[in-house]
Amino acid sequence: MKRLFPIITILIFLSLLGIIFFQVLWILQAAESKKEQFEENVKVSMHLASEDLANERNNNVPFNRKKSNEGLFPLNIYPIPIAQKFSVEEIHNKIKKVFENNFLRNVSFEFAISRTSQMGTELQSGSFYNYFKDNSDSSQLRWVIPLASQAGIDNSNDDELLIVIIPNYKDIIWRQMYLMILGCIVFTVVIISAFFLTIKALLKQKKLSEIKSDFINNMTHEFKTPLATISLAVDALKNEKVINDRTKMDYFSGIIKEENIRMNKQVETILQAALLDKKQIDLNLKPLHAHNLIMAAVNNINLPIEEKHGKLELYLDASDDLIMADDVHFTNLINNLLDNAVKYSQAQLVVKIYTLNKDKYLEIRIEDNGIGMNKETLHRIFEKFYRAHTGNIHNVKGFGLGLNYVKKMVKAHHGKIRAESVLGKGTSFFITIPQQH
Ligand code: ADP
Repeated sequence: MKRLFPIITILIFLSLLGIIFFQVLWILQAAESKKEQFEENVKVSMHLASEDLANERNNNVPFNRKKSNEGLFPLNIYPIPIAQKFSVEEIHNKIKKVFENNFLRNVSFEFAISRTSQMGTELQSGSFYNYFKDNSDSSQLRWVIPLASQAGIDNSNDDELLIVIIPNYKDIIWRQMYLMILGCIVFTVVIISAFFLTIKALLKQKKLSEIKSDFINNMTHEFKTPLATISLAVDALKNEKVINDRTKMDYFSGIIKEENIRMNKQVETILQAALLDKKQIDLNLKPLHAHNLIMAAVNNINLPIEEKHGKLELYLDASDDLIMADDVHFTNLINNLLDNAVKYSQAQLVVKIYTLNKDKYLEIRIEDNGIGMNKETLHRIFEKFYRAHTGNIHNVKGFGLGLNYVKKMVKAHHGKIRAESVLGKGTSFFITIPQQH
């Protein structure tokens, strides 16, 4: 499983790269063949157009005479030049019609009629020269085709030429392909998103299974110690000397009772977490003095703090400490935070509890100078089963359920909780509970 995940990621990544590469290649090839097709259509159209024009010129001949170079006036008959016979619009319409018949609809073009023997044109469309001048523009398609040869008159020294320019013909090709390109882009984005979602889901799954095995490990540890202690105590109770000694009997049965209570508490925590998930939390909210509830929690934590030679400092400065609270759960949540302050402490533990009134809220701050947390841990502490993954922290027992319970309870009291922490320096939890009165 551990090696499978990177292999799957690499395979999907490679196939994505491959798909994108071949799609780009395919689009370029399609563009190239579209371009060839376009040029072929233009070529065919130009031949047809020039044939058409030349034929019309040679039919119904009102011939004119042309002065020969020798200065004589032989009866040499020449067709009327295209440039004289047709208007710009007529030629435009003819070319347009052949274009349309050859799959070149909505293609804008410029044209001119010129002569091989002359510089310049005899007739040209409106913007012909604008495009004609711009020789360097590679997105132009230019065609020059003689008109006379089609008429069967060999006068190659003085052919009329039809010049057609199609500006931006590459744009026309890309425009024809844009649906295809858009489709490729959209579906590639869909595939990439699906890829990232899959990776995310896999990562989440991986984390969940890590959390699960962590939880089972923790639970086994948590139960193993009291079970071993109980087993030792029971062995001791069987000892003849102990049976006859009342105080020793009391001592060992006391240990059994204590361990029993501890295990019970742990089972309660797990059951409570499971219950909280299933049903809505039903709190018995009534107006209570937060300071009293805090003091109840403080009484529970005094002993563990003393055991660690630590100090507890109270700054209960809120003048109005009345809140709507459930006494059991509210005390529990404060207890959990104080428990953690002791659990994750370092030398010379000092726990400080502050209260103050802010607008219509009571803010309770529980501050410790313990081991602190890094950003990633701080971000996740309220998740169910989450425990920081730093080797030595796991000397401290827990299920990663405490802060999840705290968060749920604060929410059930319509309040908010946040934490600030500096690794190695300490942690502060801020709880704000509304006071509607
Ligand atoms: P548990 O204490 O059972 O592991 P919690 O939900 O109470 O579970 O806490 C989750 C994690 O948050 C702890 O494993 C610990 O890494 C971190 N944490 C909580 N409180 C503190 C604190 N006061 N100082 C440093 N780390 C803390």
